[in-house]
Amino acid sequence: MPEVICLGEALIDFIALESGVSVGEASGFSKAFGGATANVSVAVSRLGRKCAFVGKVGDDPFGRFIEGVLVENGVDTSRMHFDKAYRTGLAFVSLASGGVPDFVFYRHPSADMMLRVDELDCEFISDARIFHYGSISLITEPSRSATLAAVSAARDAGAITSYDPNLRLSLWDNAEKAKQGIIEGLSGAGFVKLNESELEFITGESELENGVRALMAMCANVELVFVTRGPEGCYYATAHCSGSVSGFDVSPVDTTGAGDAFTGAVLAQVLERNLNSGDISKLSQQELDSISRVANAVGALATTKRGAIASLPTLGELQAFLRQGTR
Ligand code: ADP
Repeated sequence: MPEVICLGEALIDFIALESGVSVGEASGFSKAFGGATANVSVAVSRLGRKCAFVGKVGDDPFGRFIEGVLVENGVDTSRMHFDKAYRTGLAFVSLASGGVPDFVFYRHPSADMMLRVDELDCEFISDARIFHYGSISLITEPSRSATLAAVSAARDAGAITSYDPNLRLSLWDNAEKAKQGIIEGLSGAGFVKLNESELEFITGESELENGVRALMAMCANVELVFVTRGPEGCYYATAHCSGSVSGFDVSPVDTTGAGDAFTGAVLAQVLERNLNSGDISKLSQQELDSISRVANAVGALATTKRGAIASLPTLGELQAFLRQGTR
């Protein structure tokens, strides 16, 4: 039985062969596994925890490639769906200096957007300790209703709900709709991971601490917030404490999926500490510092190769990095 269920989009990322050029200028692209919540499922599984991915891909070669990568990484794919009418979604990725990605999506519509409520196995979802979701599946129907129904089922069963707002403005009709949709997703979340620009987009606050306070005031259920800050590391807050932990010094090649790697590492550590819903709000500063350090290490490692999951560490690789890693 999976400990973590990740629901949402699994896509193909086509990564530009050259860095520093736009998608239109690239001479070619290499195929890589992608999709935020699918990346998290691989991150969790590589760190030795049982994880399932729930979502829909096309019944096409890319969908089967995604299934194969998940299986190879030990992720349970028993509740994945394969759509004969809609294709697997594609994202073309260009990398600016420092490996920072820019995306052009081909989802008009894609299979991930077509997940329906009646395709969910709510019993399977209710048995997991953690349920993770994002905002991409909240953009359009029917996946919006399916996501919200799954969040409700997980919450009702007492699972920890984990949410990454993951703003991709180009996929929404306009910024106002994006904000509303992302905030709707927040209402079911116990744990939230977001980056600084997403925090500012949601709360309108440019100052980190004010932004996190505003976010927590907006959603009564949110117990723990992590704001990731690229090479700077992260900031965390509960109702009782907050703190910053610096990142690791690496030479980033591709930062796609660093946030997903970070989230996967937090979830794996929540399981390692045997925490339940309600417990995450009581984590001490010391425990949160320690969780942040490990998550920063996994995030940093994730940037060192091209592709969102290519350099996600196993537990052994993570421990070796932490032994020699510099802050
Ligand atoms: P997102 O991908 O969601 O925008 P970030 O870019 O903030 O998230 O990255 C998530 C985490 O990955 C950071 O908090 C940090 O720990 C790590 N990370 C990201 N970029 C770098 C980098 N250039 N050097 C070291 N660590 C990084």
